[in-house]
Amino acid sequence: MNPGIGRDVVPLLFLVTAPSGAGKTTVGRGLLEAVPSLVRVVTCTTRSPRPGEVDGVDYHFLARGDFEARVSAGEFLESAEVYGNGYGTLRSEVVRRMDAGLDVLLSVDVQGAETLRAKAGADSLLSGSLVSVFIMPPSLEELERRLRGRNQDSAEVIACRLAFALSEMEHWRRFDYVVVSGSREDDLAAMRGILASEKLRVGRTRGLVIG
Ligand code: ADP
Repeated sequence: MNPGIGRDVVPLLFLVTAPSGAGKTTVGRGLLEAVPSLVRVVTCTTRSPRPGEVDGVDYHFLARGDFEARVSAGEFLESAEVYGNGYGTLRSEVVRRMDAGLDVLLSVDVQGAETLRAKAGADSLLSGSLVSVFIMPPSLEELERRLRGRNQDSAEVIACRLAFALSEMEHWRRFDYVVVSGSREDDLAAMRGILASEKLRVGRTRGLVIG
């Protein structure tokens, strides 16, 4: 039998962002289904669990004091206050998965992505794994259609999100990739292409193993 050559690649930290409604949750779900090595992290929140939500599965539900102690200790790669509740992504949650050889998907809003990019970029363990993608809505009209179609927000909140999207859209240059959203299939194909190419980079290859 001929020996084959295997590749030992560093796990990826795949950071995906977009203005609200552009489609990052949708494409993230598709990616998690399509790419077996890719997993999500469980984020933390101080809000109470809703019926059916399971601690450690949907979120890590933290008491306010615990959350704040972890913020002070610098344990979060990113944290934010949204309508009076704290949310955050623990560095330890990301590292645990990468140590197991898994690629980690982080799908976050544009502000969170800026913080994450800066923190992970300055982190010797994470910086070599970071790949950041900005999903650009194809137009403001289509973004409005998607926000309305999601049936989640009032007209006021949608107007607010649209106004905010304009300034968020200016951030695209700070990311490694920009994907202008097309159909759901187009978006998934673009993201899979990025993941596949990033896996082939010499800089991410620890070694080739002749088996
Ligand atoms: P985000 O997570 O960025 O806020 P979502 O993934 O929740 O956005 O998508 C917002 C809405 O747009 C959802 O109703 C979703 O089904 C729809 N959507 C997502 N991606 C596409 C796409 N490529 N084309 C058309 N509609 C989309």
